[in-house]
Amino acid sequence: MKCIWCKQSLTKNLTFMEILNPFFVQEHRLCAKCQQKFEPLIGGCQLCGKPTVQPICSDCQYWQRKYPTYAFKHTALYHYNEGFHEWMEQYKYLGDYQLRYTFSYELKRYFKDKKDCWIVPIPLSKEKREKRGFNQVEGFLEAIGIKYQPILSKKNDTLPQAKKGRYERLKMKQPFSLNIDGGLIANQDIILVDDVYTTGRTLFYAAECLLPYHPKKIMTFSLAR
Ligand SMILES: [Zn+2]
Ligand SMILES: [Zn+2]
Repeated sequence: MKCIWCKQSLTKNLTFMEILNPFFVQEHRLCAKCQQKFEPLIGGCQLCGKPTVQPICSDCQYWQRKYPTYAFKHTALYHYNEGFHEWMEQYKYLGDYQLRYTFSYELKRYFKDKKDCWIVPIPLSKEKREKRGFNQVEGFLEAIGIKYQPILSKKNDTLPQAKKGRYERLKMKQPFSLNIDGGLIANQDIILVDDVYTTGRTLFYAAECLLPYHPKKIMTFSLAR
């Protein structure tokens, strides 16, 4: 077996269960060295997990003022550190599609008790999707075999998010629209899923498309924060 990221052989001994059922082996995909590059996000802001001394970080206080009626709650698995950035480059920009399995174990654990929620990936514009060949969020959701609802569409980009500074990101205009009848999401629990949470701007715009139709709850999730 090889590490899914660095492709070095894994020295891990297979357990009896794994020998009997290769499905179990799928969970251990990173070597110890690669695993160490990811720093789990523990504690921090009550609403988004960002390391902070206050119960609610200044970013979330900003969003609370902007969306006073939206009870948001964000969950992220890891810090957006250098290691995560490196992983992201290889997955998203170099297109190493195998890497969509990297966090399958953590993702399955998060989505386990959310079977009744609609899982909504943040979309790419048609242009970007064609260029990249895949949507990185749908990629890691498909990797765990979970059903998702692509009910949001994105207009064509002017400047890619990654090339924007913090101020430009916050200033960006609403890029999304709902592509189904809004009545269908009334009273529905929804989880918006993105790869990275930076300023929150993207996820709040996505939520803004849904809020007028009164879903029961909108949670948000990203691999990194
Ligand atoms: Zn490795
Ligand atoms: Zn926060």
